[in-house]
Amino acid sequence: MNETTHDIIIIGGGPAGLTAGIYSAREMFDTLLLEKTICGGLAADTDLIENYPGFPEGINGRELMVRFKEQAQGFGTQVVEFKEIKKVEPLEGKIKIETDKETYCALAVIIASGSIPKKLGIPGEERLRGKGVSYCATCDGPLYKDKDVLVVGGGDAAAEEALFLTKFAQKVTLIHRRDELRAARIFQERLQKNKKINLLLSHIPLSINGRDYVDSITMKDLKTNEEKKIEVCGVFMYIGFLPNTKFLEGIVELDNLGYIKTNEKMQTSVPRIYAVGDVRSKNVRQIDVACGEATIAVVSLRDYLIERRRKL
Ligand code: NAP
Repeated sequence: MNETTHDIIIIGGGPAGLTAGIYSAREMFDTLLLEKTICGGLAADTDLIENYPGFPEGINGRELMVRFKEQAQGFGTQVVEFKEIKKVEPLEGKIKIETDKETYCALAVIIASGSIPKKLGIPGEERLRGKGVSYCATCDGPLYKDKDVLVVGGGDAAAEEALFLTKFAQKVTLIHRRDELRAARIFQERLQKNKKINLLLSHIPLSINGRDYVDSITMKDLKTNEEKKIEVCGVFMYIGFLPNTKFLEGIVELDNLGYIKTNEKMQTSVPRIYAVGDVRSKNVRQIDVACGEATIAVVSLRDYLIERRRKL
């Protein structure tokens, strides 16, 4: 096995991980960032980010994340993509990290592994995944030009992506299980004003139908108990996310949903392991919040690492 020791290893290349890379490399720490797929995280799947400060016209998510990555690499962070972490093991004075093939060691680790879209688990969802069932409107939306599509969910993501889909689709039905949306007021107002949006509150999906491709969805009106079927070619799921923490079970303390518990310095239950961004147990998940947490983690580690390096 090929073993390397770094000052900081960052797990995850979304906004939080890349910001940790920028701050860590600027402190001249030997910084390695390992990303499971390609850098950018969920932010890179967003067409237009309007609430990240400094871009009054908004900015494409992929473009913003490419800039984050260039900035981290520019200061010296080594970014390695397509490295999935299987195990994190705290040892005396260092932390060992394993992929299928490699072992890395670091004096400190910052976990920024983010989250993955939640599945509904209804009939047809898995079978028709990629055949009309999608978890990424930015990736698949353009395939639905002049077609009817449906979005499930009532949060910011469902509202934002439903609005994005109106650029292509003829009609976008948004169904939400409660009688009020969770999404920010600005999104709610835009949904109301958009003539292509058909908002169905108090509705739940029961099954996604179609032989080879999605052709309809069956849903239930929770107020009347009536079941109805509507014809759609695409179903986009935005019902929240699940944390990427499987590889950390039994290592750091998690909350009952699997998110990582930290203190205000972003330190987990294990010394020298920090957690930042969407994977952290908290209420507000935004890009600028993720960036702030990454900054706090690196600054909190700074004195320890300088002292450790002096002793090595
Ligand atoms: P979210 O805020 O957790 O909303 C998930 C939505 O899905 C909720 O409306 C929830 O209903 C619904 N839902 C959950 N499980 C369901 C089920 N089994 N069946 C039917 N509906 C279900 O998730 P999100 O919208 O993906 O956002 C995640 C985080 O990212 C949030 O903090 C959000 O603010 C942030 N975000 C921000 C932006 C932005 O600022 N531009 C964009 C996207 C996301 P209930 O409301 O009844 O619980």
